[in-house]
Amino acid sequence: MRRPLRVLALANQKGGVGKTTTAINLGTALAAIGEDVLVIDLDPQGNASTGLGIDRAKRRVSTYEVMAGEASLAQAVVPTAVPRLSIAPSTMDLLGLELELATLPDRAHRLRSMLKSLTQAPSLSKISYVLIDCPPSLNLLTINALAAADAVLVPLQCEFFALEGLSQLLRTVEQVRGALNPKLTIQGIVLTMFDPRNNLSAQVVADVRGFMGDKVYETVIPRNVRISEAPSHGKPALLYDLKCAGSQAYLRLASEVIQREGRVPAAA
Ligand code: ADP
Ligand code: MG
Repeated sequence: MRRPLRVLALANQKGGVGKTTTAINLGTALAAIGEDVLVIDLDPQGNASTGLGIDRAKRRVSTYEVMAGEASLAQAVVPTAVPRLSIAPSTMDLLGLELELATLPDRAHRLRSMLKSLTQAPSLSKISYVLIDCPPSLNLLTINALAAADAVLVPLQCEFFALEGLSQLLRTVEQVRGALNPKLTIQGIVLTMFDPRNNLSAQVVADVRGFMGDKVYETVIPRNVRISEAPSHGKPALLYDLKCAGSQAYLRLASEVIQREGRVPAAA
């Protein structure tokens, strides 16, 4: 039987908090435990595409063409080195999209319409998780992701200003829920780049848990050099060094994400 499709947007308007790293490694971890995962790269920087080993030359159809209505999502999807994990890559062309869509009445629903056709494409009908890697801004691309998603997963870096900006993001989620996507929820908040030798890191974890309660995943992603090295090899950390603390944390996060949805883990 087909597993229900869940669409998660990885969003935080701050850059460098771990959205892309989480898209790549949570995606790989979900695939490793038996889910069929599609990462949609909605950031013009294309770091998720590069980090998953998709060279620019291989991005013939990108999320730009999909969002502009020039291609279907299925046409953009390419496999990765990870079994059961595919990606719709992005290119810098996405930078121009906002202006191009500005006057169109359906500009916020582009991605949602594209995802509707996903389950009809024979090659993609098995996908059970879509992870959308958002740009570091609350722009039209992120709004499209929130309008298309079942839930938002927010990576927060364990640093002094972690909570700054979260209220604005939560307000945006409320607005999208009210105006565009009534079913949208917050799946959870994942604390990233935790440094056990730094007292501040522990303080940030305590503060964020105090503010957001059990919306915060128990799994905290440690700062780990293997995680930051992996993208330059075009590999997820889980392929680069499965045993490192970062990879192991992403595997735990994947179980938590699945548990939160009351899903029985797929047989791998
Ligand atoms: P965002 O997508 O939110 O801009 P990234 O996922 O690109 O953030 O992460 C920003 C930088 O931090 C990248 O260079 C990435 O390799 C590094 N990074 C992310 N998570 C970790 C981690 N757990 N340990 C070490 N480095 C990390
Ligand atoms: Mg990113």
